[in-house]
Amino acid sequence: MGQAITDAVGRLRPAADALTDALNRPEVQAVMERAERVLRLRPCLCFCQRAHPDDRGICETFNAVVTGPHSSDLLGDVDVPMCAPCAAARAAREFTR
Ligand SMILES: [Zn+2]
Ligand SMILES: [Zn+2]
Repeated sequence: MGQAITDAVGRLRPAADALTDALNRPEVQAVMERAERVLRLRPCLCFCQRAHPDDRGICETFNAVVTGPHSSDLLGDVDVPMCAPCAAARAAREFTR
């Protein structure tokens, strides 16, 4: 029994080594890094047109760093991810209202 397992592991070893080799290759690492960075991106869900119509162009669409309150007719008050410029524009608007 023990021998059978050792044999099976021994037979799988080359495949595992090949996989490790592949994962350590620079071009594969580069792809993985890029995928990781894309997964880390958080879209800004600010409703710019409505929340700060005067500063629509400032949004860093894929760089949400804070969450801010958003009132929606459908969901009520919810916290949504927002980029820094949007959060600032909303705060400024809130302030001058
Ligand atoms: Zn915005
Ligand atoms: Zn934004």
